[in-house]
Amino acid sequence: MALLTPTAERIEASDAALASLPGFSNHEPGANEFAVLDPSTEQRIATLPSRDPAWAVEQLGVADEAGRAWAKTTPRHRSETLHRVYDVLIGQRERLAFVISREMGKTLAEANGEVQYAADYVRWYADELLRPAGNFRENPAGGSTILTRRSPIGLSVLIAPWNFPMAMITRKIAPALAAGCGAVIKPASLTPLTTLLTVELMVEAGVPRELMRVVTTKDSGGFSEAVLADPRVRKVSFTGSTGVGSTLLGLAAKNVIKSSMELGGNAPLIVFDDADLERAVEGAIQAKLRNGGQSCIAANRIYVQDGIADAFVEGVTERMAAIKLGHAIAEGTDLGPVIDRRAVDNFSALVADAVDHGAELRTGGSAVPGEGYFFEATVLDRVPSDSLIANTEIFGPVAAISRFGTQEEVLAAANDTPFGLAGYVFTESLDRALNVADALETGLVGINNGVPSNPAAPFGGLKQSGLGREGSGEGLEEYQEIRFYNISRRESN
Ligand code: NAD
Repeated sequence: MALLTPTAERIEASDAALASLPGFSNHEPGANEFAVLDPSTEQRIATLPSRDPAWAVEQLGVADEAGRAWAKTTPRHRSETLHRVYDVLIGQRERLAFVISREMGKTLAEANGEVQYAADYVRWYADELLRPAGNFRENPAGGSTILTRRSPIGLSVLIAPWNFPMAMITRKIAPALAAGCGAVIKPASLTPLTTLLTVELMVEAGVPRELMRVVTTKDSGGFSEAVLADPRVRKVSFTGSTGVGSTLLGLAAKNVIKSSMELGGNAPLIVFDDADLERAVEGAIQAKLRNGGQSCIAANRIYVQDGIADAFVEGVTERMAAIKLGHAIAEGTDLGPVIDRRAVDNFSALVADAVDHGAELRTGGSAVPGEGYFFEATVLDRVPSDSLIANTEIFGPVAAISRFGTQEEVLAAANDTPFGLAGYVFTESLDRALNVADALETGLVGINNGVPSNPAAPFGGLKQSGLGREGSGEGLEEYQEIRFYNISRRESN
């Protein structure tokens, strides 16, 4: 299969965006450095320092002190600063999108979408912070009034994954800054460049540099052990796999650090016979292929009812077979590379196992030979429940479709997992949509909607998919402590 490749002009423009990064360098990495690769080419695109745990702990001091000063600024000041950040990020959209595409591999169109999505969190919190929630309560026995209020939780540690290198950072840093907290940020070592540029632009927009300290390192374990043992840290917010999240919760337990965990998913997408076929196919393609399938809310198990199954599988297969694979920044690319070689090998193994167990391969199914980490958009039909793919977070462009007869049967299958992040239901019946959404054990449900995330929505998982919420007012509360003053009153004359 021939891959689409970028024009010289696009390569030059994206190289210029990379070269504009603060402290940019691209030499053979030394002992305390690491390389960032372009997954479209496997070529090195930057070299960064791998900071040791002692350096990270020093940054805690810097961010803590700056955070204490920031907490004293007025809500209006913080709001106006964040609005300026929004404007600067959107003004630099093209530069950010090039960096995202080059280091992470999503198409330029999707990278542009991520910049908007990421900036939208900043704008949401710029507005939300002006309306701090608090209230008065009366002592039922009389004699006192209780005043509740929110204060910033304090020094926060923010750890992000590689799949949305900008949005997963702003979804944490925006509410942290809105609440009045300083932060130490650890981007994924596969995609640190977007974070460095985002934070630099935030500084340009007026956020004090000391408030947001970025630690690039390949020693993730050493980093988290050191910072989470530090008594100044009051909050850890992590997005990534359930395994790492569980380790971090263990570390956070020692100092009783408030924790938000956005972890892995295994989303069911359910299509009923009465669904609008076109809408269901479109929704399934979006929920499957957004970000090349590398999304924690990606449709992992697609269940389609018998009466509509043949038409649905045909529709999805036609769309997937037409997907054009290419370098992330090439014009016309629908699907870029996945993040690394390990992911490609994993998809090959999952497809082989599914076919061994009786699944039918409708399109795709193979890795693309040559440089870059490419895997074809793939559709498997009649995937049995005991195959590996039905029980694993795929995190790639492989649609695993199973067929079902009744609502009861599909709900039992959909909830038969320790994960509970997202679910999807496609039906034209409002009763069925709401009944199924209620019965799904997931933190969010897309109803006739393949793209449910939104800055105004409290994103987060049930079961082993996480703790806490990001986005919306609930996302701000993650960076706040609720306190009360009980004010005694007695008669005066
Ligand atoms: P990962 O858990 O391997 O890594 C996430 C981040 O943690 C990276 O920055 C990594 O460097 C760091 N890390 C790894 N070990 C660490 C340790 N011991 N201490 C501190 N940091 C450590 O996950 P990933 O492969 O980068 O991302 C994919 C996973 O993330 C998937 O499971 C996906 O579902 C999940 N995810 C969840 C959400 C969500 O909001 N629920 C969003 C995006 C991704």
